[in-house]
Amino acid sequence: MTLAIGIDVGGTNIRGGVVDETGKILKRARLSSDSRLGKGHFLNQLKKVVDELGVVAAGPPLLQGIAIGLPGIVDPAQGIVYASPHFEDWKNWNAVNDIEKLLGRRPEIDNDANFAVLGEGWLGAAKEWPHYLMITLGTGIGGGIVIDKKVWHGDRGFAGEFGHIIVETEGPRCFCGGRGCLEMFASATGLKILIEEAPEAIDKRDFLRLCDKEIEGITMEEVYRLAQDGNSFAISLFKRVGFYLGVGIASLVNTLGMERVVIGGGIRAAWDFFIGEAKKEVGKRTYKETAARLQIVPSALGDDAGILGAAARVFTLS
Ligand SMILES: [Zn+2]
Repeated sequence: MTLAIGIDVGGTNIRGGVVDETGKILKRARLSSDSRLGKGHFLNQLKKVVDELGVVAAGPPLLQGIAIGLPGIVDPAQGIVYASPHFEDWKNWNAVNDIEKLLGRRPEIDNDANFAVLGEGWLGAAKEWPHYLMITLGTGIGGGIVIDKKVWHGDRGFAGEFGHIIVETEGPRCFCGGRGCLEMFASATGLKILIEEAPEAIDKRDFLRLCDKEIEGITMEEVYRLAQDGNSFAISLFKRVGFYLGVGIASLVNTLGMERVVIGGGIRAAWDFFIGEAKKEVGKRTYKETAARLQIVPSALGDDAGILGAAARVFTLS
């Protein structure tokens, strides 16, 4: 039995696991990534996590390799991270070389979302599917495209940036430089914009009174709880999210001809409040044959998807 170390790096934490070929996580380690403290600090933390896991993975059974999911625009073929939303000093960084020096072993790297996508393909919602899309709705929007069980990276790793599909040509400005991007509507950030832009009415006033805070501080979980309580404004917000998500998925399906979509991220909890509207919009905006066959399913692996997907890369399952 060979083992892999899979690491999932976020803006807050570095999470790692020793994974066997069946996908069982034999040992876990976790440390803060403290993105504000810079690259040197991050590398130290990464080494500590790998060292802790290495105690289990060293010696027989054999450690086949290490794969690390990094938050940012990653070109796995070149080993370069072009930029990261969390780590300001990751600019055109040859991460593979630096990490190889640090660990004495050359790692595989990829974008963290891409590894989560692969994890779902190995053991989760997309098991058995050779082609699929995964869209992750959290603070922002991530995701990936899998073709023949492999992530499609585009020319330099920029593929799968679903958050920046344009769903409103004159919509709000996005930090990417464009406007009306999907992320401005169908994410935690987008929810706040939807609240701000909703016309002043009794139901909005009631909703804001119940939240009892500035719009900036309202979380997706709070909106979800209010929707569960039957608050009509909270319910309408998730319908708007579903609408824009459906518009975005329709463009993707029409472009790629894929009939399988996995939705992951924090918004999954509110599934019943947005999925109906999303499916309705996809149905209106795609060919009947495609819409009839389209499967949109929630992700299945939760927080472990990134670790498992990284391990899958090591085992060259994908
Ligand atoms: Zn954008």
